[in-house]
Amino acid sequence: MDFSFTEEQELWRKTVRDFAQKKIKPRVREIDTNKKIPEEIIKDMAKLGLLAPTASQEYGGAGVDWTMASIAAEELGRADISLAIPVLYLVESAWGYIFSQYGTPEAKKEYLPKITSGDVFCGIAVTEPEGGSDIVGAGKTKAVKKGNNWILNGEKMFISGITESSKWGGIHLTLARTDPNKGHKGFSFFAVPLKDNPNIETTLLEDMGRMGISTGGFSMSNVKLPDHYLIGGLNRGFYHAMEGFSAARVLIGATCVGAAEAALELGIEHIKTRKAFGRPLGSFEGIQFPLAEHYCNIESVKLITYRAAWIMDKMYKEKKFTHYDVSLAAAMSKLRAPIHAFSAMNEVADWLGATGYTKEYPIEMGIRGVRSYSIGAEGTMNIMRLIIGRELLGKGFLPYK
Ligand SMILES: Cc1cc2nc3c(=O)[nH]c(=O)nc-3n(C[C@H](O)[C@H](O)[C@H](O)COP(=O)(O)OP(=O)(O)OC[C@H]3O[C@@H](n4cnc5c(N)ncnc54)[C@H](O)[C@@H]3O)c2cc1C
Repeated sequence: MDFSFTEEQELWRKTVRDFAQKKIKPRVREIDTNKKIPEEIIKDMAKLGLLAPTASQEYGGAGVDWTMASIAAEELGRADISLAIPVLYLVESAWGYIFSQYGTPEAKKEYLPKITSGDVFCGIAVTEPEGGSDIVGAGKTKAVKKGNNWILNGEKMFISGITESSKWGGIHLTLARTDPNKGHKGFSFFAVPLKDNPNIETTLLEDMGRMGISTGGFSMSNVKLPDHYLIGGLNRGFYHAMEGFSAARVLIGATCVGAAEAALELGIEHIKTRKAFGRPLGSFEGIQFPLAEHYCNIESVKLITYRAAWIMDKMYKEKKFTHYDVSLAAAMSKLRAPIHAFSAMNEVADWLGATGYTKEYPIEMGIRGVRSYSIGAEGTMNIMRLIIGRELLGKGFLPYK
């Protein structure tokens, strides 16, 4: 066993940290207030290879592995505790990878270089108004082949990056039924461009947090797509979606670790200097003990998360693990990370006293942002528990067929 990072990984961390602390951290409040990530930050991220970094170099990606991608996620979470930039980063990392792996050469040539240069957005659209967790049972979006085209009808909801995709351009990898009689084996993935399409209507939702990136929905009415916008094999969409979700969940784990570390650092600084009853807050056991608990929780999440990234790298590079191993490891990280990060941030807000409830400190942005992950972005907590249960007990114990 070796718990240390390589020299290359340390250098990457330092590069991302220097950039994120200098260029992102000072602007997080502005991003949260203006509900927009400044264009120059997107462009700087592109220059560093931070947009869909896992995409192949042939299309402008950095071709980094999942350990490197997780290191960057942790550093971005540490700088942007509101989690808006980390969301953009991790969505494009996970789904840019899936697109890079399974997209047709024509579709990749058209979109991937623009995704990695920050000119357009790449998102994921699985959830529908009537079902997220149970997309297999509830999903109504359909794609039907007509000649050399696909015709899509249906509605997607609670989707990240609607404004970004409909204004800048880009694609949402969209799950649609292509064989309604085959359950999860009857879904396919399509690259759906939202911008300037008269057959697509978008809506926006007002979120609680991570305000720098939009959430909303889109409805498709006879949206015509060329055959080469089918991503991956026909009826393989569910499997590609699960692969992308595992990747996203690991990066969410790393992002939450970074944001929680930033919160704890801020809290430690405060309890060392703020005095009550003639002593620094940090000298009271009532303050020290929770600090110890939160530190242990975040360190354990960090271990689970980097182990998941390591398992993914071993699977992709050496075929040492299976997609089931990855999905179990990723679910463990996603189950623990948002809850422990939320809990640490909540504690720090207490330590800050009344100022913890004001916008003077970034903690409130963190609390609002991290809650998106425990509520369910990229899968709810109970779905993580179901995945873990399935791996421990076997498929026969799934509560649904
Ligand atoms: C900020 C944000 C951004 C998002 N971005 C995207 C995106 O970009 N693309 C996308 O496709 N989706 C996105 N989502 C949607 C997300 O994937 C769904 O919210 C999630 O899958 C849950 O679906 P649901 O909201 O329909 O809740 P439901 O599936 O209706 O679940 C409601 C509750 O019931 C619980 N539940 C459901 N089934 C079971 C069961 N069998 N056993 C026990 N409990 C159960 C769930 O855990 C949850 O607590 C986003 C969500 C959020 C909050």
